[in-house]
Parts: sequence; structure tokens; C-alpha cells
Amino acid sequence: QGLAGRSTKEVLQLYAARSQQMKLQRSSVVTQLHGAIKKRLKQDLKNLRSFALELSKDFQRQSKTCLYQVLAAVQGIQLQNEAMRMFQIKAFNLEQSLQEVTERYERENQKRKALHNNLVELRGNIRVHCRIRPLLPFDDAAGYSVSQDRQRNFSDKVAYAADDETVLVKCSRPGHASVSKTFQFERVYNDLESQDAVFADVAPLLTSLLDGYNVCIMAYGQTGSGKTYTMLGPQLERNLAFSTDEESELGIIPRATHEVFRLISEKPPGSYWVEVSVVEVYNNEIFDLLAKDSYGKVFGVKRDVVTTREGKSDVPLLTHETVENASEFLHLVNKGLQLRVTHPTLVHAHSSRSHLVVTLTVTTVVFEDNFGTLWEDEQTSQRLNKEAFYTFPQKMRDDKSTPSSRASSPEQLEATEKMKQVKTRLQLVDLAGSECVGMSGVTGAALRETSFINRSLSALADVLGAIAEQRAHVPYRNSKLTHLLQDSVGGDAKLLVMLCISPGQKYLTESMQSLGFGTRARQVQRGQVKKKNFPVLSRVK
Ligand code: ADP
Ligand code: MG
Repeated sequence: QGLAGRSTKEVLQLYAARSQQMKLQRSSVVTQLHGAIKKRLKQDLKNLRSFALELSKDFQRQSKTCLYQVLAAVQGIQLQNEAMRMFQIKAFNLEQSLQEVTERYERENQKRKALHNNLVELRGNIRVHCRIRPLLPFDDAAGYSVSQDRQRNFSDKVAYAADDETVLVKCSRPGHASVSKTFQFERVYNDLESQDAVFADVAPLLTSLLDGYNVCIMAYGQTGSGKTYTMLGPQLERNLAFSTDEESELGIIPRATHEVFRLISEKPPGSYWVEVSVVEVYNNEIFDLLAKDSYGKVFGVKRDVVTTREGKSDVPLLTHETVENASEFLHLVNKGLQLRVTHPTLVHAHSSRSHLVVTLTVTTVVFEDNFGTLWEDEQTSQRLNKEAFYTFPQKMRDDKSTPSSRASSPEQLEATEKMKQVKTRLQLVDLAGSECVGMSGVTGAALRETSFINRSLSALADVLGAIAEQRAHVPYRNSKLTHLLQDSVGGDAKLLVMLCISPGQKYLTESMQSLGFGTRARQVQRGQVKKKNFPVLSRVK
């Protein structure tokens, strides 16, 4: 508008000035914008940097904490490891000291047993071992007329071996006072212990036998409690012979016989012989089960028991058979046992109705001069000269028995001016069943049997009681059994009573009775058992 009237040149100049002005204006805006952006960017960068800084500081802090935690954990583990190691050491030490204590306990226990054994020897105590047989199928049968309800518990076990010296009887029955009682014995066998284990404890007595002691092993217990099993082994059915098929099942008698002959075989030859006698005490009569008639047939002959001038018991005319080895011995014992069931005077249906006494006599012959034997001590020698001095061959002629091949031949003996004989005796007794059978309803032969068994066993208890109380009079002669066993029971023998116990509840009364008998027997003190006078062969040059 204002250009009207202006020249082109002026107009051009005006345009140029205007665009110059606008250019200037634009560049100042750009400059301003640039400044603002730059400022903003700087600020952002600063913020970013401080944020990053914070972040890194935070990270550092956290990782430090983590590190501490890791360190603490590692330290904790180390401590735990250390503690664990200490515990292990402690446990190891404890284990070791436990083992030491156990070993020491075992040693002390052995020592205590040895001391107890010495005490038993010194006091002349009767040793009592107790064997609890396993429960057997026939324990289930009730046998009495009782209600079904009571029968159900009959086969429950009530007698246990608490340890190898303690019997525990534990029983509670409805309507009865509960029983919980322990009994101590020299040795208690549990139902799993073998014939081997039982014999292992008997074997030392056989060494004693050859060292000059009389020995008696007596099984006591009710019928079915394992007396015959323990003494002989399992019996064959029908005849009363014992089976020798299963060696591990053999009882004390066959094992003892083998052991005696084994021990003899270790001795100097020609100085021992062994005789056997088998006797049964039935209805207070003594039967010689090895007696022979004029045809050599074995039949039971009644014998009597007498007291000799020396106060010993003796059975005159009793058959003593000389045997040379264990099988000869056992053959004779078996023959005697079979006679028990076939002989008319011995009409008892069950072997438990009579007492069986198997005696093994070892005679030791000592030739004093020719062999230069020395005697144990002056006193022993003197006593022996008084007691067991025989002039040879007079004695040999008197004696029905013939020496075995182990003994020197008579010709050899003839050359000897004098000889000494020492007899030691091993008596093995299987007593009649100790059950207190009621007399009601029993008549005739059974009544006689029962009353004789009851009387003989109570006579045995009376004898033990009299010895225990050191009474002046011991009633040995009240029964043939006690009279026969007088020397063994009365103090001239190492005596072992083997109590046999049936474990079932059905037999509780009988078991308690047997355990009571064993407890009383243990209390008997008979004074030190005498050793027969033996030369000390080891000192022979
Ligand atoms: P007892 O002679 O006391 O009347 P037995 O010796 O005849 O008794 O034993 C009765 C039954 O029990 C027999 O069949 C016998 O074999 C068995 N018996 C006894 N004791 C044991 C035992 N320890 N282990 C296995 N069986 C046994
Ligand atoms: Mg029997």
C-alpha cells in the first residue's frame, strides 16, 4: 500500500530490507530455541547422572549386605561343621568308652562268676541250673476239664529267661492274683539254647571227676518239662531208648560219657577203667537194670541200699559192667532203659514214674613204687594210705570187674608190689516227674506210684532242708532215693541240679514248685567238697 508512488528500485530496496529483517528475526529465534534445548538437555543429563549414581550406590549397599549375609552363612556352616566334628569325636569317644565299659563289665562278670564259683566250691553249695524248654505243640492240649475260656490261655508263655542267671515268671489271669517273680540260679538257659550250650557248662565237672571229685547231675522237674531230653536227648517212640542219629540233639549222659573217655585218652595209658551201673528207683524199690540171669539175659533185679561202716551208702551185688568206650557204655544204658518198659515188675506206662540213676565209676590205678609217683602233699598221702590202700592182686580177685585194656594187664600188675585204687563216681539222675498229682480219682497201681513219687521227692527236699539247717540228723533213710543218693547229696560230690521248666501258663503251679525247690537247694551249704586222693602225675620224672 505504502508502495504506491514509489519507484521499483525503492520497492526492491524495501523488500530486501524487509527480508533481511525477517532473516535476523528468524536467526534470533533459532538461537533462543537452541539455547533452551541445550539447557534442558543439560538438566536432563544431570538428573540422569544423579539417578545413576543413586542406583549404583544402592546396588553397592545391597551387594554389601548380601556379601555379609553370605559371609555369615559360610561362617555359620563352618561353625556347624566344627560342632559336627566335635560331636563326631565325642560320639566316637563315647562309643569307645562304652565298648571299654562293656568289656570291663564282661571281665568283671566273668570274675564275679569265677568268684561265685569258688564260693560255691568252698561252701559246698549245690549248683542249680535252670532250663526253660520251648513251647511245644502238645502244650495246647488242655488236659484238665476247664472252661473253654480258661483253656485259651493255657499255652501262653509265663516263664522266661530274663538273662543267663535269672528266671522271670510273669502271669496275670482274670480271677487270680497276678504273679511277677524272679529266681536266681547259677545258670539259666532260655528256650533257644541248645544241648551244646547246656553241656558246655557241665563239661568242667567232668574234668573235676578225673581230678578226683565225685560228681552228680540231677534233673528235676515235672513230667514233660524236658528232664529226659536234657539228660539223654530226644527219645525214640515206644521203646525208651534215645536216638543217637542227631548228634547235636544228644543230652548230657551220652556227651558226658564221650567226654570222660576223651579225658581218659589224654591221661597216661593203663591207669583207668570205667564201669557202668544203671538203677531205677520205682515205688521205693531199687532195681538193677543191668543184672543178668544165668543165661546172660538182662532182667531187672531188686536190690537194697545199705550204709557201710564208713557211713557211705552202697548197693550190694549191684551190677557194674566194665566198658572200654562211650558206645559200649551207651549200649548198656539203652539196654537198661528198654528193660524199664518190658519187665513185669516195672509196669509203669511212663518213664517219668520212676527215678533213673546211671552211674559211671572211674577207677584210677596208681602204682606207687614202680612209677615213682609223688603224692600231692603229706596229709593227702597219709589219708590215702588209710582209705584206699589195697594189696594187689588180692583186690583184683575180689573185684568182679575186669580192668579194661586201658588198664595194665594183670601180668604187668602182678609185678607191682602194691597198687592204689581211687574211685570217683559220676551219677546222672533223671528224677520222676515232680508234679503234685492229686490223689482223687487215682486208684490201685497209679495211686501207689503217685504216693511213692511224692514221698521220695519230699524226702529229697527234707534231706536238703536238714543239711541246710545243719541238723545233726539228716533223714537219708526216709526213702530209697535219698539213701541211694546220700553220698552225692550229702556232701561227697559236686552236685548240679538241672531244673527243667515248662514255660506254659498251664504249668504255672508246677513251675513255681520246681523253682522253689531249686531256690532252696541253692541255699544248702555242705562244706567244701572233698577231693579224692590223687597223685600228681605231672611231677613224675
Ligand atoms: P520229661 O522227661 O521231663 O518228662 P521230656 O524230656 O520227655 O520230659 O520232654 C517232653 C517233650 O518235650 C519231648 O518230646 C521232648 O523231646 C521235648 N523237649 C523237651 N525239652 C526240649 C527242648 N529244650 N527243645 C526241644 N524239645 C524239647
Ligand atoms: Mg522223662
